[in-house]
Amino acid sequence: MSKTDIRSLILPELQDEMEKMGEKKFRALQLYEWMHKKLARDFSEMTNLSFSLRESCGERFSLTTLKPVKVQESKTDGTKKFLFELPDHNLVESVLMRYHHGNSVCISSQVGCRMGCKFCASTLGGLVRNLTAAEMLEQVYGIIRYTGERVSNVVVMGIGEPLDNRENLLRFIRMLTDDKGLHISKRSITVSTCGLVPEIKKLAEEGLQITLALSLHGVSDEKRRQLMPIAERYSIAELMEACRYYFERTGRRITFEYALAGGVNDTREDAEGLIGLASALHAHVNLIPVNPVRERKYTASGKEAVRMFQKKLEDAGINVTLRREMGRDIDGACGQLRRNYDSAGRG
Ligand code: SAH
Repeated sequence: MSKTDIRSLILPELQDEMEKMGEKKFRALQLYEWMHKKLARDFSEMTNLSFSLRESCGERFSLTTLKPVKVQESKTDGTKKFLFELPDHNLVESVLMRYHHGNSVCISSQVGCRMGCKFCASTLGGLVRNLTAAEMLEQVYGIIRYTGERVSNVVVMGIGEPLDNRENLLRFIRMLTDDKGLHISKRSITVSTCGLVPEIKKLAEEGLQITLALSLHGVSDEKRRQLMPIAERYSIAELMEACRYYFERTGRRITFEYALAGGVNDTREDAEGLIGLASALHAHVNLIPVNPVRERKYTASGKEAVRMFQKKLEDAGINVTLRREMGRDIDGACGQLRRNYDSAGRG
């Protein structure tokens, strides 16, 4: 039987484990802080615990620690992309972005993805498995250990569909925001979804103060279906209702992500459709020129089209940002680093 992964346990669970081992309850807090505040890599670092307790923890539990197997740094904007190897040798990628308001880390939530979006590299090999809470936390911790820098924002926008891995995602958020750990503010966490309507509603009911980003990419059901298979299952009307529910339950404005693909979804009519949807929900719009993926046919909209699109939204009073094209020179698109590393043969 495989060992319990101790870094995925919340504090009350860890207290139960200590009780089972005949240890005092406060040992759980010491262990927890070693793992989630001091970011220990190994039980041997936990020097205020007795040698015998460290030994028995090592026998009973596994402690997930991720080390980057590859780090690429952008020469233009300081963005760093990390490839992490998981305990079972699968690979995921994470990105550190430096903004004037602080460091932001983008993490993966699954190995691969089963959502099948037509422009995305992460979904090409399908879904392999969900990540555990520890594997999500460790992407953040591994980057902090590597850079020695603080992280103020975390976005779940890397490989995978986070709402397809809800239990582990919620555990991850709970632990990341815990004052016994890194204590990152819920308002500084963004979860991005391709639009799983029932899951958006369930997340709304958790009442967490996190930002929900919806990958919209098309303003009619017909257009959205060309780009995203999930649009066959849920209509835009259903999606907007779920987003409204999220906004009402949490008070948090939704962000629409909109990848601009040349000649596909970047016309004036598309902009007008997007204005209608965004104003109804007071949503923020994040425009992302498509990052071309070798296996896919889509290309980014031209500069002129992007400018026209953005201006139209701004003129209509929409809160719009154009995603800075960070790290283009380092396999920027989601899932590209992992694919290139694997196909080139590891190491
Ligand atoms: N599964 C989640 C989160 C991961 S993708 C989701 O769909 O939202 C994060 C964002 O990057 C999504 O908006 C996704 O649609 C977008 N994206 C994926 N591949 C892209 C590409 N090649 N160019 C531009 N945006 C892309």
